[in-house]
Amino acid sequence: MSEQQTQSEARHVVVVGAGMAGVQTAVALREQGFTGAITLIGAEPHQPYDRPPLSKAVLLGKAEGSAFEVDFEALGVDLRLGLEVTGVRPEEHRVVTEAGEVAYDTLVIATGAEPLTLPGSQGVPGVHLLRTLDDARRLRPVLDQRHRIVVVGAGWIGAEFATAARDAGCEVTVVEAADRPLAEVLPAAVAAPMTGWYTESGAELVTGARVQAVVPGEVLLADGRRLPADAVVIGIGARPATGWLAGSDIALGPEGAITADARLRTSLPDVYAVGDCASFPSARFGERLLVHH
Ligand SMILES: Cc1cc2nc3c(=O)[nH]c(=O)nc-3n(C[C@H](O)[C@H](O)[C@H](O)COP(=O)(O)OP(=O)(O)OC[C@H]3O[C@@H](n4cnc5c(N)ncnc54)[C@H](O)[C@@H]3O)c2cc1C
Repeated sequence: MSEQQTQSEARHVVVVGAGMAGVQTAVALREQGFTGAITLIGAEPHQPYDRPPLSKAVLLGKAEGSAFEVDFEALGVDLRLGLEVTGVRPEEHRVVTEAGEVAYDTLVIATGAEPLTLPGSQGVPGVHLLRTLDDARRLRPVLDQRHRIVVVGAGWIGAEFATAARDAGCEVTVVEAADRPLAEVLPAAVAAPMTGWYTESGAELVTGARVQAVVPGEVLLADGRRLPADAVVIGIGARPATGWLAGSDIALGPEGAITADARLRTSLPDVYAVGDCASFPSARFGERLLVHH
């Protein structure tokens, strides 16, 4: 809420994005005594869920899902699932959805991040991403069939998927453009022992290798190597899911993140941003952070 707004003035909080950040925002508002209306809008059709189990228990079939244990009805939260928000009209204090406009007094943007894709790989049979429950469910039979899998990217998703796929008995090759795993997120000294994860799990790690193309049944590397692949999992990072804000005049950073202030206020009045879609100035680190955790 803006500085001037009292709780009673903020009659209707609309939260866009029903992932961890959006759900926790709704829960925290109630925990802190907010009595106005809360509408939580999520594009996915599933009951809101936690993502970390997707690359672990859900992928391996040890859990069907990872829904948050939150009783939205009891909390008085109007949960609208399977509904994409396509824009915001800040002057009118409204968001635009496929099912019409929704008015807000305060808007919280929590639309998270979307996985990066490899140019040219979309639509190629056998190519997967791992961000959503649907992605994990699509990958389960791939593991069951003990396929030869090439994972592109030795970041967190690549490491977790490779470990799960090895557990399931698949043959796994991980291709990484940098000279080591997690090069973009951790210093070399910290990341060095993580190379051992791949050896221990029996996955082959190929570093310093760029993917030139993904074609059905094969991953072609820039140095001419061809890796046979029944399935390919792309784990090369994620970008803030903020494309739907185009034209709203909300301030975004170079990586597309909403540049919130230290209290998570955006450049638009009565609009806040939280989670993977937003960066914020960290007092502890003295710099702006975009944290995808
Ligand atoms: C497989 C996997 C494993 C992970 N493991 C870990 C881990 O072990 N530890 C850790 O700290 N982090 C982990 N993460 C990262 C962590 O899950 C994210 O940081 C966290 O989910 C971010 O929460 P969020 O609510 O900001 O965004 P998201 O979880 O991305 O949720 C955003 C939601 O908004 C919805 N949305 C987007 N655009 C719109 C729109 N226009 N209209 C309506 N709804 C919209 C999306 O469909 C999505 O459901 C993992 C992520 C993945 C994918």
